[in-house]
Amino acid sequence: MKTSIATVSISGDLREKLEAIAASGFDGVEIFENDFLAYYRSPRDVARMVADLGLSITLFQPFRDFEGLPEPQRSQAFERAERKFDLMGELGTDLMLVCSSVSPLALGGVDRAAADLRELGERAAKRNLRVGYEALAWGRHVNDHRDAWEIVRRADHASIGIILDSFHTLSRGIDPESIRKIPGDKIFIVQLADAPKIDMDLLYWSRHFRNMPGEGDLPVTDFMRAVAATGYNGAISLEIFNDQFRSGSPRTIAADGHRSLVYLMDQVRNAEPGIAIKVPILPPRVDVHGVAFVEFAADEDEAQTLSHHLRQLGFRLTGHHRSKAVERFTQGDINIIINTEREGLAHSAYLTHGISAYALGLTVGDAAATVERAEALGAQLFNQRVGPDQLAIPAIRGIGGGVIYFLDDHSPLGRVWDVEFDAARDPEANKDAGLRRVDHVAQTMNYEEMLTWILFYRSIFKVSKSPMVDVVDPSGLIRSQVIENQAGSLRLTLNGAESHRTLAGRFIAETFGSSIQHLAFASDDIFQTAQALHQNGMRALQISPNYYDDLQARLALPQALLDDLRASNILYDRDANGEFYQLYSGSVGEGFFFEIVQRSAGYQGYGAVNAPFRIAAQKRALPILGLPNR
Ligand code: MG
Ligand code: MG
Repeated sequence: MKTSIATVSISGDLREKLEAIAASGFDGVEIFENDFLAYYRSPRDVARMVADLGLSITLFQPFRDFEGLPEPQRSQAFERAERKFDLMGELGTDLMLVCSSVSPLALGGVDRAAADLRELGERAAKRNLRVGYEALAWGRHVNDHRDAWEIVRRADHASIGIILDSFHTLSRGIDPESIRKIPGDKIFIVQLADAPKIDMDLLYWSRHFRNMPGEGDLPVTDFMRAVAATGYNGAISLEIFNDQFRSGSPRTIAADGHRSLVYLMDQVRNAEPGIAIKVPILPPRVDVHGVAFVEFAADEDEAQTLSHHLRQLGFRLTGHHRSKAVERFTQGDINIIINTEREGLAHSAYLTHGISAYALGLTVGDAAATVERAEALGAQLFNQRVGPDQLAIPAIRGIGGGVIYFLDDHSPLGRVWDVEFDAARDPEANKDAGLRRVDHVAQTMNYEEMLTWILFYRSIFKVSKSPMVDVVDPSGLIRSQVIENQAGSLRLTLNGAESHRTLAGRFIAETFGSSIQHLAFASDDIFQTAQALHQNGMRALQISPNYYDDLQARLALPQALLDDLRASNILYDRDANGEFYQLYSGSVGEGFFFEIVQRSAGYQGYGAVNAPFRIAAQKRALPILGLPNR
């Protein structure tokens, strides 16, 4: 598989773009003409730079408004093409993209366009160049790849082929199955882009909202399956116009792009065995069986505070690490580790973020295969020096710098406790509060980073994403996206903050990008849990009385239930399938908190309707800018 990306997809000047593209593992690059025109080096210098970086130029683009012109514009268009052929010779690329004309002067007619392309093919052939014709979704006469193919077929010239672009086909709802009829050797290059489903003008949608395959809502996999079935064996190239990407980090966006292509082709290979494109075989997407542990980095004082919180929540100290300053707290199936080491990743995470939940342990079927898949998708492996009383647990770096460990039958969680920890008795333990397991892990990030996180999780794990929802914070908007598997054994909520004045944004600022902002534990009886927490001395987050009045008005709950909810500061939601209860702790450190939930089987959500009231309550409880704690 040859991978390529258009320079227009990422930010920076031409050199920065090319360096980021090469560093991310791409084989080739489409030179978008404006990126070249804005650059102060000669075409030969650019050719050398591309070669020195180990890249090749897969395409020069775009050449606009060529076909169907009357004279004298027709002759001028050919003259223009000859000059660009000169340039291509110096750049060292043999393929030019001609997109269907949007010129008001252009005349329609399949045969007229075919004749123009045939003549262009003749001229290109003299220089050993090729021309690919692409139907723009908003082309004046040609806006459908089926028409573009008919024109290319009638042009009947070895140097003329078709260029397929998933956005132009899928944005207009054209069935990609029609691609299967095109001979693979007449497809000169395939451009890929996804996009969120938004009902808007095609041109505007295309120029501003495209994203990487797998990040949006278009059936890009179906499109690519149809392409692969033609026997096409050329480059697959990303052409992404996106405002966020153009202002983002070139390295991150290029890395996301490469990951998206590897993930896409893995899906295509599984669905279309026997395709011509050579695709590396990856272990399958990983089914996560559960969250085995969550590890916090802290200093001694904060570790004391966190231990106190955990004991109020009904956790008890169950283990001391044999050689490290690490303690284990347990309740139900939940394991919380507090690491106060002064070296290693925990310590650097602490120095950067302050007290933070920087590592997750996930139980999977095959930890080695998980790491192999993640690495093929560009994830960074994590290896830390392993001491005598320690196991080497396969791990990767998450987005945002944390660590994800993988446990399986070969390195089961039980062995970690047996080998690395001495059992402890906890004289300070409080009453067990009936917390059973981790329900969800909520991660907070800047809104611009959300697509990176989503792609990371979706490409490695067998999870799906639900539609993004907006959550209103009194100081701005939070975009919330759920990533979960079918069994509910991995549930992540990703919260993207657009403003630093929101609770989530403030958390990012205070912790310099720390990611896990809350952990939600599941209880089977939240009222009993609330009682136990009260007895353990925990003060729950105080919810506004007005919330309960509205709950009564909206849902007509039985009075006794309503009284119980109000008395325990429990939030409530229900959907067609079930009920959901939520209870929150106060904050630990710079805005981290715990949530306790009870969900009846079938309830699909995370209480998003309650989030504005929870956030308002949390902001009320925060000491803000020197004001006394209210
Ligand atoms: Mg295109
Ligand atoms: Mg939550």
